[in-house]
Amino acid sequence: MHPTLDATTALPLSDLPPLVQQVIAPALAGCAMPVALYDAQDMLRYANTAFDAIYLGGHPLPLSFADVLRHSWRQGLGSFIDCGDIEDFLADILPRRRSAPLRQLTTDLRDGRWLQFTEMLLPGDWLLTIGSDITALKRQELDIRQAHSCALHEARTDALTGVANRRHILEAAEQALAARPACGGPCLSIALIDLDHFKRINDRYGHPIGDAVLQHFCQQAQQHLRSVDTLGRYGGEEFLVLLPGADAAAAQTIIARLHRMRANRDAALPAITLSAGIAQASSGETLGQLLQRADQALYTAKTAGRGTTVVAPSVPTEIVNTL
Ligand code: GH3
Ligand code: MG
Ligand code: MG
Repeated sequence: MHPTLDATTALPLSDLPPLVQQVIAPALAGCAMPVALYDAQDMLRYANTAFDAIYLGGHPLPLSFADVLRHSWRQGLGSFIDCGDIEDFLADILPRRRSAPLRQLTTDLRDGRWLQFTEMLLPGDWLLTIGSDITALKRQELDIRQAHSCALHEARTDALTGVANRRHILEAAEQALAARPACGGPCLSIALIDLDHFKRINDRYGHPIGDAVLQHFCQQAQQHLRSVDTLGRYGGEEFLVLLPGADAAAAQTIIARLHRMRANRDAALPAITLSAGIAQASSGETLGQLLQRADQALYTAKTAGRGTTVVAPSVPTEIVNTL
């Protein structure tokens, strides 16, 4: 039950400025927007029914602003306070209260709604607070944010395997290279991986099984790579792995795990081997140069009989600069 204006206010209405008691209070009594008026001592002296329902639950006035929040917190009413302790919350917000003639604050309520409060300092240091329900706007904002992050995810993800697509893995590689200091810095290696005789898998078992092998390979590879590594689909059955912090030898050890995945593959799927070319980035090397060296190493692995990894010879800086 929401008490009437006369009943809710411990002080008689006549104690309020005449304009409030004669015009504003009656007009706002049934207004859906929460409205509250605080005096110069920050005592809540008037609250309309909507404000009462949100923060007071029928508690009589006057109440200090801090006590309004304490009361609503204890009663499970009012704003959602995520720091867990009302006194910590008050210590955080009270210094900013009345700090400007006009302030706007957004709060989410325990009942799930969102309000935007406008606080106006009035002559005589009265403070008028008016809330607007912005729940619909907030929901729209959330929907748009979710749609945006879904679109971003889709734009970066290979639809078949769920790993980074070619554009995204190349962007990530460019960024990883650009983040390295001009001289030296932490190592970065890349590995180009190509599944061996994949055409035969399609020819023998059909394209859908080929697809399942690609999916299974990616799923397994991600489990065997480090959390800092990124796997991307570079082409049909070709993958690019970024191995930050790994020199060529470390990269070789990591890629060796992928060769061993064959041992515990999904028995329902045909076995595959892979060939890999590793290149460790040299100082000043462009992504194009690095990829070219990894591709050359991959080609060597293929011609050496497949199922193996070849590491590209390192390039002295002075040669990189002339490439
Ligand atoms: P190599 O050992 O020399 O790499 O032989 P390969 O047969 O793997 O090489 P090739 O490049 O001749 O064939 C690659 C095959 O991968 C041909 C293509 O049909 C298949 N492929 C590419 N993308 C997909 C895909 O998304 N799904 C399936 N099922 N097959 C694909
Ligand atoms: Mg192949
Ligand atoms: Mg290929």
